[in-house]
Amino acid sequence: MQCSVRESLKTQAAAVLSPVVVGDRVRLETLIDIEDQNSLKGQQPHGVIFEVAPRQSKFSRPKRGMEDLEQIVAANIDRMLAVSSVARPQFKAGLIDRFLITAQQGGLEPTIVINKIDLVHEIDLNRYVDIYASIGIKLICTSVKDNIGIEEFTECLKDHASIILGQSGVGKSSLLNAVDPELQLKIGHISDYSQKGTHTTTAVEMFPLKFGGYVVDTPGLKYLGLWEVEKDDLKHYFPEFARYLNECKFRNCNHINEPGCAVKAALKNGVIYPERYQSYLKLMEQLEE
Ligand code: GDP
Ligand code: ZN
Repeated sequence: MQCSVRESLKTQAAAVLSPVVVGDRVRLETLIDIEDQNSLKGQQPHGVIFEVAPRQSKFSRPKRGMEDLEQIVAANIDRMLAVSSVARPQFKAGLIDRFLITAQQGGLEPTIVINKIDLVHEIDLNRYVDIYASIGIKLICTSVKDNIGIEEFTECLKDHASIILGQSGVGKSSLLNAVDPELQLKIGHISDYSQKGTHTTTAVEMFPLKFGGYVVDTPGLKYLGLWEVEKDDLKHYFPEFARYLNECKFRNCNHINEPGCAVKAALKNGVIYPERYQSYLKLMEQLEE
């Protein structure tokens, strides 16, 4: 049903940009007799939302261009599936790490999905598997083309409310169609020139799944700003740094240029993965700006 949002909901502080978001539980008043709905198709709105239930969880980002405003992408979800492809487009560890931080902040259980594994040799996959296993993040490898990992992917979604993220072209729509063909999501094509997907999904949408659960599909995210992460707190989002907390010479060591840094020593010894440390540095730089 098409609904409008009562004006008073739009003025509450945290809700300027997102008075009502995908996944919200709301109370609404219908303006017309439900029985008549069909005859009134096209005459909107049919309802007014006047109350939004407190959100159990949320997935937020700073509004692009207005970084001090919170944009809630979806609410009341409990899982995040961060999809990346191994190639076409190539794997972007930095983006995955941002997704992981945002999930942790919003209280969502993260899973990384590496799709299109038909395009690489197994040996090239092991690196990613090792990195995320080392920090205890669940990871599944899939190929829609060769029908690999689809059952595991289904299991992740079943009976949960999940949000699926990833830049366009990694195969989010293909994966969702593979687990539930009734969704009939449009598949984009990869341009040969840029190896990137065309944008086929335009709005954030929530779909019920035939085997139980809901999934929130998002337009391809090339970038995700971090909401309410302070520079000096960033290190806490990197679980592999945690065990060195008391070993660095300085108590509030940010593991960058400080002398006697145990994290940098661990990096040098190959205990901490350079990909993850690079992500950390990059995020740190951006938070400093
Ligand atoms: P989305 O933008 O993330 O939703 O990606 P799409 O599902 O639209 O897929 C983008 C392109 O990748 C399409 O041409 C798909 O056919 C292709 N694709 C999806 N999954 C796979 C896969 O497992 N292997 C290969 N080789 N191609 C895939
Ligand atoms: Zn340190």
